[in-house]
Amino acid sequence: MNEGEDTADGTEFDYCANCGAELGTDEWQPISTRESESGALSFDAFCDESCRDSYTRALDAEE
Ligand SMILES: [Zn+2]
Repeated sequence: MNEGEDTADGTEFDYCANCGAELGTDEWQPISTRESESGALSFDAFCDESCRDSYTRALDAEE
């Protein structure tokens, strides 16, 4: 298999930020953005919405 596709903006996600599952490049993934203290945006991708929810909930709980 040789897919050789590049994303236009150079942002791509290989693993779920919550559980570490490998993400398929041909499937839609929920993405979440968050702003660091310095104001830089970072992006996280997840294998499904429940993973995204538990991840963002854990971030909220840290505050
Ligand atoms: Zn996950």
